[in-house]
Amino acid sequence: MTPRGWAVLTLGGLVLALLVASIVLVPWSRPPAPRADQVAALGELPVDQVAHAREFRSALRPGAYGALVVGLLVALLLGLTPLGARLVELAGRPFGGHWTARAMLGGLAVVLLADLLTLPFAAWRQSVLTRYGLSTHGWSGWAVDLLKSYAVSAVIGAIALLGFYTVTRLAPRWWWAFGAAGAAGLVVLLSFVLPVLVEPVFNRFTPMEQGPLRTELMAMAARDGVPVRDVLVADASRRTKAVNAYVSGLGPTRRVVVYDTLLREATPAEVTSVVAHELGHAKDRDVWTGTLTGALGAALAVVALYLLGSWGPLLRLAGVDSVAEPRAFPLLIALVTVAGLVAAPAQALISRRVEARADAHALALTGDPATFEAMQRRLAGVNLADPDPPRWEYLWSASHPSTVERMAAARAYAREAGR
Ligand SMILES: [Zn+2]
Repeated sequence: MTPRGWAVLTLGGLVLALLVASIVLVPWSRPPAPRADQVAALGELPVDQVAHAREFRSALRPGAYGALVVGLLVALLLGLTPLGARLVELAGRPFGGHWTARAMLGGLAVVLLADLLTLPFAAWRQSVLTRYGLSTHGWSGWAVDLLKSYAVSAVIGAIALLGFYTVTRLAPRWWWAFGAAGAAGLVVLLSFVLPVLVEPVFNRFTPMEQGPLRTELMAMAARDGVPVRDVLVADASRRTKAVNAYVSGLGPTRRVVVYDTLLREATPAEVTSVVAHELGHAKDRDVWTGTLTGALGAALAVVALYLLGSWGPLLRLAGVDSVAEPRAFPLLIALVTVAGLVAAPAQALISRRVEARADAHALALTGDPATFEAMQRRLAGVNLADPDPPRWEYLWSASHPSTVERMAAARAYAREAGR
């Protein structure tokens, strides 16, 4: 069988594996959150709070969708015309067009150009956040964060680009197989190292101070059967007023992180409710699930790019001979960008199901739906979330159930448990 034949077979296997993984690992049946309860919950929220949040969300929209459209157009323009290939050549020229320069500098130039062209929209977003009082770190802090994130992506990107194009040179017929394995490995590696290497670039993490709240949280984790070494507090307040918490990392790097803003804004019982939700993620191994599906998706993407990239008309549009050369990187970016947009609603749906399961875990673990609901109300209030967002936007991009869905889930749980 030819390498192409093997690639088709591998693609089929990966699609099947991804399907099986999402059928088995994603909690498709979700706990009840009746619409009647949602409507009742919405009616109980302060009218001016809801109006203010909706005003804020519509102020963000032009910037968000502008960035999306411009990002897509730039990717298509660079990838489906010879312009991108020329940009890669240009970046490699000071180094005599050496392939490593084209691979790394050319690749980074393409990404940087797209970043720069969408920069006005990022600035728009920051100005809206400032106007509504959510951002606290000013333009200089914003710029520093932006430069840091460019630097982090440049380092990870340069390593990935150099690795990828080394493989395409060493194994011109089989690079897709090594590339798929490498991409999957990179996803797994990043899950382990991001919390220790990258998150500290942006925030300082300190163990939660000793006291009744910490004792309560550790006791709850023990009761839940989830070993947690520590609960860390992130100094999010230096950039935002928003409150949040999350789990990240795998195995020895797993941590539960709460924003210092959360500790400041919420009652200890509400913090407990949030951490109970995060313990749900840990207990159900949601980071593992995300990493596994991410690794399968990355491997699948590499094989699909190999197969699509041998399609003559596409290569002619991009003005390249082979998808495996650095000059074809803009074409890869264009294909990945389109695939990302197509996959976004499915990813959001899966995320919402996983989040709803963590909510159910929090309700069962704390047995305190009233505090859970109060916490949701506070989250929406502080973060200026639209408690019941437009349906299309929800389906397209919502990573969490809406505030009224989460409140309704708490009410359904309370009825069920007779509390
Ligand atoms: Zn969550």
